[in-house]
Amino acid sequence: MLRQLRDAMAGYGTAQERLDRIVQLIARGMVAEVCSVYVQRPGDILELFATEGLRKDAVHRTRLRVGEGLVGDIAAYARPLALADAQSHPQFAYRPETGEEIFQSLLGVPILRGGHGLGVLVVQNQVERRYAEEETETLETIAMVVAELVAGGELIQENELTATEAPLGTPRRLAGTKLNGGVGFGPAVLHRRGGTVSQTVSEDPEHELERLNEAMSAMRESLDHMLDGYDPEESGEHLEILKTYRMIAEDRGWFGRAREAVGSGLTAEAAVSKVLNDTRARMQTVNDPYIRERLMDMDDLGYRLLQHLTGEAGSAESLQDVESFVLIARSMGPAELLDYDRDKLRGLVVEEGSYNSHVAIVARALNIPVVGGIRYLLSQIEEGAPVVVDGDAGVVVIRPGADFQSRIEESIATHAAHRKELQATRDLAAVTQDGAAVSLMINAGLLMDFDHLEAEGADGVGLLRTELTFMLHPEFPNTAEQRETYARIFAAAGDRPVLFRTFDIGGDKLLPYFSASEDENPAMGWRALRIALDRPGMLCRQLRALIEAAGGGPLHVMFPMVSEVAEFDEAKALLDRELELAARRGTALPSAVHVGVMLEVPSLYFQLAALLPRIDFLSVGSNDLQQFFFACDRGSQQVGERYDSLSPALLRFLRDVARQCENAGVPFGLCGEMAGDPIEAMALIGIGFRRLSMNASAIARIRLMTRSLNLTGLAAYIDTIIDGADHTLRNKLADFARDHGVRI
Ligand code: PEP
Ligand code: MG
Repeated sequence: MLRQLRDAMAGYGTAQERLDRIVQLIARGMVAEVCSVYVQRPGDILELFATEGLRKDAVHRTRLRVGEGLVGDIAAYARPLALADAQSHPQFAYRPETGEEIFQSLLGVPILRGGHGLGVLVVQNQVERRYAEEETETLETIAMVVAELVAGGELIQENELTATEAPLGTPRRLAGTKLNGGVGFGPAVLHRRGGTVSQTVSEDPEHELERLNEAMSAMRESLDHMLDGYDPEESGEHLEILKTYRMIAEDRGWFGRAREAVGSGLTAEAAVSKVLNDTRARMQTVNDPYIRERLMDMDDLGYRLLQHLTGEAGSAESLQDVESFVLIARSMGPAELLDYDRDKLRGLVVEEGSYNSHVAIVARALNIPVVGGIRYLLSQIEEGAPVVVDGDAGVVVIRPGADFQSRIEESIATHAAHRKELQATRDLAAVTQDGAAVSLMINAGLLMDFDHLEAEGADGVGLLRTELTFMLHPEFPNTAEQRETYARIFAAAGDRPVLFRTFDIGGDKLLPYFSASEDENPAMGWRALRIALDRPGMLCRQLRALIEAAGGGPLHVMFPMVSEVAEFDEAKALLDRELELAARRGTALPSAVHVGVMLEVPSLYFQLAALLPRIDFLSVGSNDLQQFFFACDRGSQQVGERYDSLSPALLRFLRDVARQCENAGVPFGLCGEMAGDPIEAMALIGIGFRRLSMNASAIARIRLMTRSLNLTGLAAYIDTIIDGADHTLRNKLADFARDHGVRI
């Protein structure tokens, strides 16, 4: 069918006529009564451009917004959708002019090119039909070919595909997420990756396979070359990232899929592009930031591979004459950021990318202001437009007015002075004005995070997310592999304690090689300790590896998502058994084993009296706790920010947890996002917390805040406001900070 499609593409007639023939061919080839192509127009409108099977007069009339209806859903999430009974789907939007009510099943895939959505390709059948996975694959491959026609600029002007709705020349303010503080100003450079696919269907599959193999070797070699440039003793974020990269470049699954796509008749570059599209589609469905990161790395590598295949360079290599710039990207891998000249780079804005994304981590290491999470960013900005990136406020201003520009320059100077001050506090203790010492620790996942321990003067690792080791491996890491990773972690931490949290996988933290479950509410589903207790072998292997890696030193183990004491008892029994077995085997036992729990599920609070005598420490996982406390999905766009962590209800809860732990003499702390926010951390200290674990980049600010705080006044003040009916105490606490000179 690919060959027929290619002939139709190259055939006679206008682009519209060719598209009309193409939908007929696809309908026939896929044995479907309907095949339709929707093309994305500016303003995120999907317009029906061609159809076989729906009413012809609906063409160019039927329009849906991105996100509206099933077609809009496919475009919004850039993922395929296969439905045996489409009309019962809650997203179904009925369009009477199409006459589609008689078609029951639907299979749709996004039409993507270079990571950008160009439209949606849909087939429909009258009967209730379950589309096989291979059919989705086939339609995705076909969509690659259709993308060529859509991007050709004949159906719709090329500039219309990316045009902005706002008249150019007017200032525009876009709010996003703060990924790194600081303010930067410069002309926009739109991040462009080289490697445009000019031919999709191959003439000679064998030759294409050879080209793919060669490009893969060339890319691996160039990564080796990058690594060779470093001293083997050297450590650091860039190096760790490159090593991870190199490892992913060996991923046989990824490469295998590209080979398969070549086998199905695509050229080498189209095959890589297809795998890239699949990765992107997977990325849209994964909430877990770490997995998204792995996928992002693959995305990055895929584009490198495309560059090797096409010999075409990206935007990083065309900036010799530019003095300074702000980089604008949909998404970006860390190595790509390193391709740009740091001395000229004033700021970074990404459509995607979370706080823990690799690109954000590297940008922080390079001290570049970053704002993320701005949807449809690229359609709102043109190359060369002046842009302000305000990483402190999480705001981007395009084409700012003159008065704004002078304010920005002031702000840049203030920020530089503030950074200097923060750096100067690195070796000072985090002690309040009235002498209360606060232990500041970091949350870590990768070995590279450990550089921050020293750099930020942190007291240890208050949360080690061990599931990362699992996520980095192509299959379940065995005991020896885990032991090796943990031993390196112990070595990197030196004398500082590391609180190892046993794996928190499942839910949306899916592993490529382990299908946890298909719960409707994954955060409340089969995850973390629930999996561990149902599959004790997995947990035992991890505990054994930890015991052995401790090498006779102290070991801290922390169980996540404990919902009742009985679960803790069960997990603790497994740990005791592993210790006993280790003793029998003659393994050097840890000098002390500290066993703790994460308080993330409110039910456990009502058993604290029974729990506290059993444990050595407790750590509040406020991210999960908050979502269960308020029954509010932490990732939801609509309600994610609805309830505030500084609500009287949550603060009262936490104050009571602190009091109970203190009375029982059990060390306790908090390791969620709250710990890294100055006002929230101030409140936590005010209600009794003395150990806070946070992202490393927050340590300096929290230390500065702690050193400026007078606790006696604060605790008394909180007692007067905590029983009120407010939605949040944030403003009151911010006023307190201002009035009392607390550096928030
Ligand atoms: C938490 O839930 O607060 C926590 C620290 O764990 P995670 O964010 O890894 O779920
Ligand atoms: Mg959690």
